[in-house]
Parts: sequence; C-alpha cells; structure tokens
Amino acid sequence: MRAGLPDFRLGSVLATSFTGTLSERHGDAVERIPTPQRLVDWLAVYGLAVDSCSTAQLDLARELREAIHAAATATAIENALPAPAVHVINDRSAQGRATAILTLEGERQWHLSSASCVEDALSVIAADAISIISGERDGKLALCASPTCQAAFFDTSRSRTRKWCDMNTCGNREKKARFNANQRKNPRSAE
Ligand SMILES: [Zn+2]
Repeated sequence: MRAGLPDFRLGSVLATSFTGTLSERHGDAVERIPTPQRLVDWLAVYGLAVDSCSTAQLDLARELREAIHAAATATAIENALPAPAVHVINDRSAQGRATAILTLEGERQWHLSSASCVEDALSVIAADAISIISGERDGKLALCASPTCQAAFFDTSRSRTRKWCDMNTCGNREKKARFNANQRKNPRSAE
C-alpha cells in the first residue's frame, strides 16, 4: 500500500470489485484508483499485471468502470440495460487480446498480448461483467443496503439474501448504526 492513497476493497468477483474502486458513491465518494499507477497496482492484485498505464488508459478504465456500474445497477433493480453502457462494455471486451491459460496446477491465468496493454486487462474485466450481467454465472446482482454505498454486488450466497457489498465495511457500519439507533430508542436496555 502506498502512503496517503486509499486502499483497495478486494472482493471475489472481478467486475464488481472493479466498480468498487469508486466507493461510497452516494456519500463522500472515494476514488481508489486516482492515478494510473494505482490502476497498475489494482490490476496486479487480480492477476492482470501490466508494466505501465497512461492517463488515457486510466480514462478508458474509469469509463468501463462506470459502464459496468450502470449496467449492473440496472440489472439489480430489473431495469432495461442502458445502451451507452452496453456499448462501452462491448467495445472494451472486443478491443483486448487476453488469453485464458490453464496451468498444470489446474488454475486459470490470463496472458495479455503485451505488458503495456491495459486494454487487454480491461477486456478481461468487461468479459467478467458480461458473464454476471447476462445471468450466465450462478448468482444474483443486488444493491448494497448501505444508503451511502448502494454498490451493485454479485450475491452468490445460497439463499441470495446478502445485504451488503462487503461485510467488513458496509455491513459492520450498518450494524453499528442500527445498534446505536436502538440504544437511543431504548436507553435502558444498555444498562
Ligand atoms: Zn456497500
């Protein structure tokens, strides 16, 4: 982690972890990839290592992020998909050359066409977004119950009743807020 920069919120789903690089969208928004280098750092965490990133490539990444956010949110609330967002996702998906590689240990790795190709990494993220928005993967898109967050997340719980994008951040904060509200309503219960 670099001093002074917001840390990453890492989830198990690539596309919604990527949209989570802008958090608290309905509160005091936190930009977690404020510089090209931070995008490089983020991609490395997800096995999409690139050597460098230009500001133009960071712009492409943020455009894709907002498109995924818009399409995933629409899906979660069962609205029609926004056409401009779908175009951006499809463009990014089409304009990258990343290859899935099966290792002898039985794991999938991504090989990018060149180490400078942020576009290749973005195509992997776009394809991941397509797989969850299309309903191809087992799970359900939902919106975080935190009013200042409302991030779209991919619920893979068996009951499909997950409420928060992240238990450690939004989940804990909401639980604390509810506990404090109860204490105010029933001050005696704390004694
Ligand atoms: Zn949340």
